[in-house]
Amino acid sequence: MSELSELYQQVILDHNKKPRNFRKLEHANHSAEGYNPLCGDQLTVYLELENDSVKDVSFEGSGCAISKAAASMMTQAVKGKTKPQVEQLFQEFHTMVTGDPEEEIESNQLGHLKIFAGVREFPVRVKCATLSWHTMHAALNNQEIVSTE
Ligand code: ZN
Repeated sequence: MSELSELYQQVILDHNKKPRNFRKLEHANHSAEGYNPLCGDQLTVYLELENDSVKDVSFEGSGCAISKAAASMMTQAVKGKTKPQVEQLFQEFHTMVTGDPEEEIESNQLGHLKIFAGVREFPVRVKCATLSWHTMHAALNNQEIVSTE
């Protein structure tokens, strides 16, 4: 577990410093805003959907390192995926970070996202890690604003 948390810290720091897909998407046809009042994180997720696939995705906003890194990695994870694949990934990520910390992670789809399993031990941080996912999910389903409260 200590190796995983070291990796977790490195990846979070890296994505926080250089967030991927951190911009407004000019050709977005879906977007949503997400707020996490508990921590003060807020972000906007932009999606360009074509034939039910995520052609492009980006985000803007400000927040803590975890929320930013999670958003950055979320955009990498969903880009190029179909809507059902994104839905599955969203479910798996959500199940992982809200699960029992003692339980093994079973998912094979999550890849690098598995490092966020570490937040299970810090319930306050779960909302930071899931904010971008809820916001992306809302954009995908034509909702405009989500709040973790
Ligand atoms: Zn946060």
